[in-house]
Amino acid sequence: MSKYLYLLICVALITGCSATQVTDEYPKVQDAIVLQAEVVNDPLFTEILTELESNGAINWDDNRTGSVKEDLSRYQSNLAWALEQFSTRGPYSQNDVFLWRKWNPPWSPTTAVTDACENSTKLNKWTLDRDKLKIANTLVHERGHSFCLTHPSQNRTPNQCDFTYISGDLAEAILVHRQNLKTRQFDKPMCPALCASLEARGMLHGCK
Ligand SMILES: [Zn+2]
Repeated sequence: MSKYLYLLICVALITGCSATQVTDEYPKVQDAIVLQAEVVNDPLFTEILTELESNGAINWDDNRTGSVKEDLSRYQSNLAWALEQFSTRGPYSQNDVFLWRKWNPPWSPTTAVTDACENSTKLNKWTLDRDKLKIANTLVHERGHSFCLTHPSQNRTPNQCDFTYISGDLAEAILVHRQNLKTRQFDKPMCPALCASLEARGMLHGCK
């Protein structure tokens, strides 16, 4: 490899691919980190998840808990374990959230990457053109991966009732509700049971 090509790759890696911490340059992401920390402590977060779990609406199948280190049989339910993670390990702090540009075309839908059980997460800078509530949704979703949960594919539709998708969508819906943004629409498929639960509380009017 010519040394110039090598140099070019190094520069691309340093400027494009390396993960950086969230600074004042990204106020929207800073706000989203604050919001995801608030929303997981909102009583509606536990209340609605508990309702969905008792109805068997959260999909834990296909080895989604296979990487979890704790013995889940010791817990009343998988949800009880997940809620304990949120209360003991907490949501993400600003030091846990990194930004990077995914090494592939800007139109990749990837919003974030979290290795299973890794305490930190990386948000894709190519997909930050979203409001802070959607970024908070992503952070709550990724936190589930930090707690070692996985889903069998990266497609939303077959995973919409997965805990990570439900918890992220629920977090966004609670934030919309608390901020009284009545006309705001969800533009992605949502777990039908979550949709019904939000509609029953007057928190949402129709889901995709
Ligand atoms: Zn995920």
